[in-house]
This record gives sequence, C-alpha cells and structure tokens, in this order.
Amino acid sequence: MTFVYIGLGSNLCDPENQLRSAFAALKQLQDTHVKRTSSIYRSAAVGPGTQPDYLNAVLLLATKLSPTALLDATQQIELNQGRVRDIRWGARTLDIDLLLYGDLQIDSPKLTVPHPRMQQRNFVLYPLREISGTNLSLPDGSDLDTLLKQCTNAGLIKTKYRLLTN
Ligand code: AMP
Repeated sequence: MTFVYIGLGSNLCDPENQLRSAFAALKQLQDTHVKRTSSIYRSAAVGPGTQPDYLNAVLLLATKLSPTALLDATQQIELNQGRVRDIRWGARTLDIDLLLYGDLQIDSPKLTVPHPRMQQRNFVLYPLREISGTNLSLPDGSDLDTLLKQCTNAGLIKTKYRLLTN
C-alpha cells in the first residue's frame, strides 16, 4: 500500500454534492481505502472570467493502484460526473488532482507528481496540513510548513463540513 494525497475541487452543479459523489466513488475503488479527509474549504476561483467560488478538500488514500491506474480511475470519476475538458482552468464540475504519491517523483506526459502547482495553492496546502498531522517532507526536499509560511490563506474559508470516512 502507498499513501497518496489527492485534491478535490468543484465550482459547478452543486459543488458540495459533487465532492460527496466523488468521495463515494473513491471509496469504491479497488485496492484503495480512504484514510483521512480534510474539512471542505471554500475559495475564490482562479482562472478566466467570472466564476463561482470553489469547494475543495484533500484526502489521504492508501492504495495498491499504480500512479497511472489511479489517475485513470480518478479521470473516469471526473467524466462520470460530467466533467468537460474545454477551457484551461475554466469552471468545472469536478477536478481530482494527484498531489503526492508516497515519495515518488513522476514526470511523464500524462502525470506530474508532486502536482506541479500544489506548492502555491492555499486550497491544497491548508487542507493538506489539516490531515497530515505532522510537517510533511516533499520529495524535492521542501517541507509543508515552510510552504505554508509562504502561502497566504487570504480568501480561503474552512467550512464546518467534511466528507466522513465511515
Ligand atoms: P486539469 O485540467 O487540472 O484536470 O488537468 C488535467 C490534465 O493534467 C490531465 O491531462 C492529466 O493527465 C494531467 N496531469 C498531470 N499531472 C497530474 C496530476 N498530478 N494530477 C492530475 N492530473 C495531472
């Protein structure tokens, strides 16, 4: 089993329900267990035009799936929930990012791990710290607490809601 952190985001079509549906689908994945879930966070959209706020959460999985098998599975969940890939960084019903896969560094055309933009995203770093319990070392030698000091939480709201693991 490998411990994997993933990020969920949605800003269309009842985002809270999108996160809950994704969570239900992730719990059904073969050889995979959801170990921890962060609170649900609300953040202002980054990207083109005016978009609704995002809801985000970070989950810790334990999985026997390979990185590409896990990516295929999470992309299928995105598609099942009506994700249309059109405008880069446009509004989306569901986005699932593989943030960290154990301490692997992957740089293939399909998959970059750690996720290339996670270090600047408060809606990733703050929920990640909420569930990591300790300061995490990233494969490039950086550590989560240092990244957090460089990343404002302005505009990020931790809600009282969470995806429940049981
Ligand atoms: P996005 O529009 O953010 O969902 O980006 C999806 C694209 O990023 C897909 O074509 C993936 O193959 C690629 N990708 C590269 N690295 C990752 C990652 N760590 N997690 C999710 N998608 C990734």
